[in-house]
Parts: sequence; structure tokens; C-alpha cells
Amino acid sequence: NSEPKKEDLQRIIDLMDGFRASKALFTASKMCVFDLLQSRPGLDAAQVAQEIKASVKGTECLLEACASLGLLKSKERTCQKPAYENADLATCFLPTDAPFSLRGYIQHCNESVWPLFSHLESAVREGANQREKAFGKTSKDMFQDTFYDSQEVKLRFMNAMHSIAKATGKSVATAFDLSSFKTACDLGGCTGALAYEFTKAHPGLSVTVFDLPTVVEMSEQFHPLRADNRVSFVAGDFFKDELPKADLYILARVLHDWSDENVQILLSKIADACTPGSAVFIAETMLDGQTPHSALQSLNMLAQTEGTERTESQYTDLLSKHGFGDMRVVHTMNFLDALIAIKM
Ligand code: SAM
Repeated sequence: NSEPKKEDLQRIIDLMDGFRASKALFTASKMCVFDLLQSRPGLDAAQVAQEIKASVKGTECLLEACASLGLLKSKERTCQKPAYENADLATCFLPTDAPFSLRGYIQHCNESVWPLFSHLESAVREGANQREKAFGKTSKDMFQDTFYDSQEVKLRFMNAMHSIAKATGKSVATAFDLSSFKTACDLGGCTGALAYEFTKAHPGLSVTVFDLPTVVEMSEQFHPLRADNRVSFVAGDFFKDELPKADLYILARVLHDWSDENVQILLSKIADACTPGSAVFIAETMLDGQTPHSALQSLNMLAQTEGTERTESQYTDLLSKHGFGDMRVVHTMNFLDALIAIKM
């Protein structure tokens, strides 16, 4: 038996440490450490502890963990305690009001995904989501039942979607030349963050965001200050109601919530609303084996929803059953991949 390679041992230890690193990030974000150090860089652990109303011992430990992860920089000062400030990575993504802030998504990971992942073994054994074990939710309607159960949870979910859509939206919106399309409908478009990216990228395009009434009624507070009159909102249920007419139907992180049966129902409604030349635009992380992200996101879908992430060929099979062809895929390398398919 030869000694294991040091780098292999390190890799396994890094994987085992993964959940500790995630939870350190979630906790520092929840306790507003990055917001505090953004407005007041250079505080020491005792000063941070006082501001976030925590113990000095615990705060020191958390700040050192964040520094070791590259989220904070600590400056040793002679005869004084180290002073902390946000590293560039934290400045870009972690303060609440940073343009590409992921704080909303981090909060969702902490409050919703973390409890679900603590039941991952059951999810794997049963092949089913764990909303009942994690949150006591028994209904099949995961949005009404879990994510839109209270105003607070709904706002957290919407913030999560908004933050990812803002960070990835430009790569998705610019993946294809869409100049031949005049009207788009973003089904399950949530706060409209992606719709705004589409209108910014395509001056001739208007986008209708279609989402559940409970979402549309709160979408106003997410609109950018200079709201674009090419983005409008329609409330409805995409399984039950008539879909707004459009040349292009956008489905961003929607199909991964649903079983193949429900995806077929939705695609069949979209196909009925399309005329030849209209198109479907899918933005999802595709299972292509290039990075662990898509496979881990699929575990997330298993624990949380009725759905799954899918491969490019699974999407093309589903779409071709509904008369879509001429499919093209762009791997944006920015969290979400983009697929366009034309109604024949
Ligand atoms: N497309 C957004 C994005 O990429 O940021 C949000 C994705 S989120 C995972 C799924 C969205 O589908 C939510 O905004 C949810 O409210 C919406 N949704 C779920 N069921 C729906 C239904 N039956 N009719 C309309 N929208 C629905």
C-alpha cells in the first residue's frame, strides 16, 4: 500500500470542508459582516462583534475563517488586533447593495436549501423532495406551499431569483441574435430582472413578464429606478391560464422545477401559442459534466422540487415532441446555459 498523494488527500479534505465554508459565508452574510465592513473598513474583531451583537470569541473565529476563504483581508498591526476589510471578491458580490450582490441567493441557500440538504440521504433513497421533512409542507404546490407561504419567505425567494438573474442575465440575454423577434414573454419571469436584461440587450424587443399573481403584486419593489416601458407584467398561472401572445417564449430556471409530465404540458401550451418562426428560449444549467455546478444543482432540485436539471439532449427531445427544431445551445460559462429552438 503506497502512501496516498498529498494533493489527493487535500482534495478530499477540501470537499469535506465544503459545508463548513458555505456555512461560514452564509452566517457572515446573515450577520451583515460584509455590509458593515463595506461601510466601515478597518474594524477589528471586537468592534465588529459589538456592531453585529455577537461574542468577541465567536466573531474572531468567523472573521478568520472568512479571511482564510479569501472573502476578507486582515491587516496585522503592531501591538494591535488585526483590522478587517472586504476582499475584492466580497466587495463585488456580498454587500446588500452591490450591483451584482448575491446576498439574496445566499440567504435562500441558508434558510431553504441548507435544511433541505440535511435530508439529502432521504431525498436520494426516496427519489423525492424533502419539503415535508424540512418545513412540514405536504402539498404538491411547492410555490404556494413553501416559497410563497409568507410575505417574508416570498420576498426572500424573489430576492434570491433577482440576484442570480442580475448576475447572469447579460450573458443569457446576449447569447443569441434576437433581432428578428419583436415581442417576448418571460414565463415565470419573477421580478423582471431578466426581462430588463433582454430589453437592454435588444432595443427592438418588448418583454411581458408572466408570473403568479402573488409574485407580480410584489414585483414593483424590484424595478430599477428608470423603469423601461418595454417591460410589462401579467399575472397568471402558466398551467391554467392563456399565455400572452409573443414571438419568443423565455423559460429561465422554470423547467428544472417540474417533472417531464408537467414540462410536456407547459411546452404543449407554448407550442399552441406559437406560429411558425416563433421560438422558445431556455436558460438553465445543463448537465454536461464540465463543472460540478450543474450536477450539484440537480441534487438541489431533487431535494427541493418535482424537477431536475437536464442535459442538452433531454431538452432537445422534449422540444422536438412539440414541433420545435433548429436548436442552438450556448454554454455561457456564467452559471446558466442558453438554448433557442424555433417552431417549425
Ligand atoms: N425565471 C426567473 C429567474 O430565472 O430568475 C425565476 C425562476 S423561479 C425558479 C421559477 C418562477 O416560476 C418563479 O418566479 C415562480 O413564481 C414561477 N412560477 C411557478 N409556478 C408558476 C405558474 N404556475 N405560473 C406562472 N409562474 C409560475
